[in-house]
Amino acid sequence: MSLDPGADRSGGGSAPTAGIVATGSELLAGRVHDANGPWLAERLGELGIDVVQILLVGDRPDEMEAALRSLRGVDLVVTSGGLGPTADDLTAAVVADVTGRPLELDEHMEKVVGDIISRFADRLRWDADALAEANRKQAMVPRGATAIRPVGTAPGLAVPPGGEGAYAPTVLVLPGPPREVRGMWDDALATAPMQALLARTAPFEETHLRLFGVPESEIAATLRAVGEHTDLAPLEITTCLRDFTLEVDLRRRPDDAAARAAHDAVVAEIDARHGKAVFSRTGETIDEILFGLLEGRTIATAESCTGGLLAGRLTAPAGASAHVEGGIVSYSNEAKEHLLGVPHALIATHGAVSPEAAHAMAGGAIERFGADVAVAISGIAGPGGGTAEKPVGYVCFSVRTADGREIARDPVLPGERGDVRERSVVLAMHLVRRILTEG
Ligand code: ATP
Repeated sequence: MSLDPGADRSGGGSAPTAGIVATGSELLAGRVHDANGPWLAERLGELGIDVVQILLVGDRPDEMEAALRSLRGVDLVVTSGGLGPTADDLTAAVVADVTGRPLELDEHMEKVVGDIISRFADRLRWDADALAEANRKQAMVPRGATAIRPVGTAPGLAVPPGGEGAYAPTVLVLPGPPREVRGMWDDALATAPMQALLARTAPFEETHLRLFGVPESEIAATLRAVGEHTDLAPLEITTCLRDFTLEVDLRRRPDDAAARAAHDAVVAEIDARHGKAVFSRTGETIDEILFGLLEGRTIATAESCTGGLLAGRLTAPAGASAHVEGGIVSYSNEAKEHLLGVPHALIATHGAVSPEAAHAMAGGAIERFGADVAVAISGIAGPGGGTAEKPVGYVCFSVRTADGREIARDPVLPGERGDVRERSVVLAMHLVRRILTEG
């Protein structure tokens, strides 16, 4: 397969392809992270459209034009940004030029934009002439294109192929602000040019495996082993380490038997080698899984080295108050003693970072909050404070239930201070999942 997106990759029964062009000099300067490209890529992927490139370009028309021309071989080009009323907002003009569709005034859109802008007019302090000109500029639509109702002030555009520019892709022109892109998406899909394209696509079948505690290298070895007896080429496999979780995403065409066979072989081998590490097959996060598992139960936290990060994470979803009783950040020894009832002698004998202290902290949290389950974390996040016996990264976990069960761990976690703390939170959440699914 050619890697040149300019090469013709359209049609022919395979998945439609797309390129995304995010414009804005601030993106190139690194001041703003591109929030539109990845979001659009995900949406297009869900629709069964293969994104082959995401390009970031500056605000200059020649850069925009070069990007559009470089994508001449795909089925769909989606642009974001440069749609506003000011002179440097040039996307519509460049798209008109490249597709060979002269700009024409869409009088209905002129009125729509006029109504919207007049609401901002006082704040913008524009005079009537400037306002009228801004309206007109934003209501200029390439001939034959569909204007999409603005979410902010700028209309989007859906431009079908077949203009005099002999430009093959359908072009979807969206505004820059991510909120406007998201708000306009459904209307954009409903336009005639997008409907024509979507009539040729079938959504991918997707499996989203999530594994905890397996390094990426082991999954790579597993996939190599499967590849020795099964052709994996028809299956799109993406592995990604995120939030200390290994994500394995499998994507295939629904009507492709070879892809189905490859999918089944990969899932079977992952189950055989790493089955215990798989905690989700639908892409659910550990946070979402815990939220479900905690329904009808209550939880409390006792944190030392994570300083409340676990409680923050557990309380992030709306509705957490149904199961989170509370948490204690007991950073000092005194706090562990006074707030959680950890005996002074226990800390003196075993240390505040010890399985014994974690056990007592969890017990204190259960008792003080009256919770069904409690998690305690006490560790050495570093960079200082480590010893030969208890090095930086040594973290003690105790997850206890009111009915007397416990899962305890005291690993040495890799990474620097921030990693140790974040990793501890994720590990603690998995220990809670384990105790709740076992019980
Ligand atoms: P406006 O009507 O606001 O002028 P526009 O379509 O002209 O809309 P831009 O001027 O290109 O959009 O961008 C407006 C703002 O939106 C930028 O200042 C930037 O903060 C944000 N923005 C634009 N593109 C992106 C992007 N790809 N990712 C994240 N933020 C973006």
